[in-house]
Order: sequence, then structure tokens, then C-alpha cells
Amino acid sequence: MTPDSIQSYDGPVNSPAEYLKKSPFSGQILLDAPMKNRCTFKSGGPAETLVIPESLEDILIVRTLCAEKNIPLFILGGGANILVSDKGIKGITLSMEKMATVKQEDNTLICGAGLSVNAMVSEALERSLSGLEFLSRLPGSVGGALYMNARCYGAEVADIFDWAEVLTLDHKVKRIPFNKADWAYKISPFQEEGLIILKGAFRLSPGEKSSISSKMNEIALSRREKGHFRAPSAGSTFKNNRDFGKPSGQIIDECGLKGLSLGGASVSDWHGNILINREGASSEDISRLIIEVQNKVKEQTGFYLEPEVLRVGDWN
Ligand SMILES: Cc1cc2nc3c(=O)[nH]c(=O)nc-3n(C[C@H](O)[C@H](O)[C@H](O)COP(=O)(O)OP(=O)(O)OC[C@H]3O[C@@H](n4cnc5c(N)ncnc54)[C@H](O)[C@@H]3O)c2cc1C
Repeated sequence: MTPDSIQSYDGPVNSPAEYLKKSPFSGQILLDAPMKNRCTFKSGGPAETLVIPESLEDILIVRTLCAEKNIPLFILGGGANILVSDKGIKGITLSMEKMATVKQEDNTLICGAGLSVNAMVSEALERSLSGLEFLSRLPGSVGGALYMNARCYGAEVADIFDWAEVLTLDHKVKRIPFNKADWAYKISPFQEEGLIILKGAFRLSPGEKSSISSKMNEIALSRREKGHFRAPSAGSTFKNNRDFGKPSGQIIDECGLKGLSLGGASVSDWHGNILINREGASSEDISRLIIEVQNKVKEQTGFYLEPEVLRVGDWN
């Protein structure tokens, strides 16, 4: 289906669900869907209209509706790097979770953007392909890892990236090949307004299944030992800045801020850069704690810590 074949939307602009129900959209539509269940901070208000497309055609229908009626569109991956406003997300939130295909071409693994990173890593192991070990137990989706250029255990997504297929603002499916200049710490070519990542291809190499598996287990264990899964969080809250000479977690620790709490949110006791939803925190609690940590670090060191976590939804 091309956007031209999609009927024009004549209904009230505040009922995109009605339009989608009348259109050939074949995915799920959920109204006032609690985002607490869809993000790792386990906080925040509902998505006004959450859609779960089953196909590229579905995505095109949603995209066209949003463009024609000026409806805000947020693309949701695994929700592992976002802080959703307590007021929720207006407009349409499009979850990529059903876009989760896997295909192998030679040693390249091509994964749908909605596939979880865990599932992608398992697929690589199953096929004895090496290269994805560093992403073992990274929360989130393939799309989110590409968007954020996820980085851990001495490597980043850019190191194995071959190409990605994206949907552009003018409804074209475009292939973006690797270009070194497009990538940097927490920077990827997908952060340009309006791109929807559909799939990503990763350059891997044949390996020994047992050694791939033991590396993956080692990293999974290290994540558990570092307390990544002890409480709801979005992993590292702040970016690291080389100019500061040490990681943000160490700076926060040296400022004596471990354990600092505000409402139900705390700086974890075990890692300065992991802010957690200790007990029933609102996103406002977490957001205020982020600002509190920034202010205290600035006062004591002069450094401004830049959040890595993205605030999503209505923050006014
Ligand atoms: C316990 C824990 C540990 C973590 N450890 C690490 C770590 O070691 N290293 C690291 O880098 N990160 C880490 N993170 C953060 C998180 O896992 C990564 O940022 C992850 O890549 C986010 O993916 P996601 O699918 O959850 O993205 P989301 O949080 O859903 O979205 C993040 C951004 O990506 C955009 N996006 C997602 N999918 C698409 C798509 N298909 N098309 C266009 N835009 C899209 C969203 O719109 C949003 O702007 C950790 C998080 C947790 C909870």
C-alpha cells in the first residue's frame, strides 16, 4: 500500500483510534495504555493511543494519519531509556514490538527493530555467530539500541552495524549504510526527526558456540553483580563525559550522593549513576532527583551532568 491509497481522514482529530479502526490497519489499538508496564522505570502516565502495528503497511497508515492531522507520534522500543511524564503521552505511541523478524544472510544478522536485544543475542548464539556478546542482557529493542548507539563492555552498536532500513518522513523506505562520521558516543544517524527504524543488519563472524555462550554468560553475570536488575531503572541516568576525567557514577559517588532519595526515587546504594524507582516513584520524583543530582554535582565539582535518559510525553 502506498500513502496515496490511504483514505483521507475526515473524523475529529482527537480520535485517531476511530480512523484506524475504519482503515485497513490490522494491528492492536489500546486507549489510555499504562506506560508503567512498558518502561523499565515502571513510572509515568498512560499513552493516549498506543498502536502495535503488524506490518509496514500498518506503520504507513499510522504515519500518514499523524502527518495529515498533525498528531504527535512517539516510537516506542523496549522503554529502557525513557522517563514517561506522569501526564502520559499525547497523540499516538507506536510500539514496534511485533516488527521482530530475524533473517541471516551469510554472516549478517538482519533483525526487525522491535525484536528484543535479548532475542537477537540468543539468535546469534543459536547460529554460532560471534559479535553480539557485548550486548548480552542489554534491556530494550534492536531499534532502541540502534537509535541510542548502545554501548557496553568495551564496544558499541556502531562497531557491528552494517545497514538499517528506515521509513523517512516522506514515507519512503530507505537503506542507511554504515558511515563512520554518522556515529559517536550516544549518537546515531537515526536521531534525525521523523525516522522510524524498521530493521537493522549486523556484521558478525562464525564462532565457537561454547565460547560465544560463555562470554555471554560472563557479561550477564557481570550485569547482575553490578545491580542492574535489582530495582526498576533505565540503567545509567547520565552520560559519561571524557572531559570530566572519570565516569559520572564515580563523580556522583564522590559527591556523597549514593542513596539520596526524593519521594520514591533514589540514587541506588550500589551505583552512583543508576537512579532507581525504589518504591512507587512518580516520574516527577525521578525527574526532580535527576535535577537535584545535577545541581549538587555542579555545586561541588563545576561539572554539568547531561542526562542519557530521555524525557518523553507531556512535561509542561
Ligand atoms: C538495567 C539497564 C541497564 C542498561 N545498560 C545499558 C548499557 O550498558 N549501555 C547502554 O548503552 N544502555 C544501557 N541501558 C539503556 C537501554 O538499555 C538502551 O538505551 C537501549 O538501547 C534502549 O532501547 P529501547 O528499545 O528500550 O529504547 P526506548 O527506551 O524504547 O527508546 C529510546 C529512544 O529510541 C527511539 N526508538 C526506539 N525504537 C525506535 C525505532 N524503531 N525507530 C526510531 N526510533 C526508535 C525512541 O523513540 C526513543 O527516542 C540500560 C537500561 C537498563 C534498564
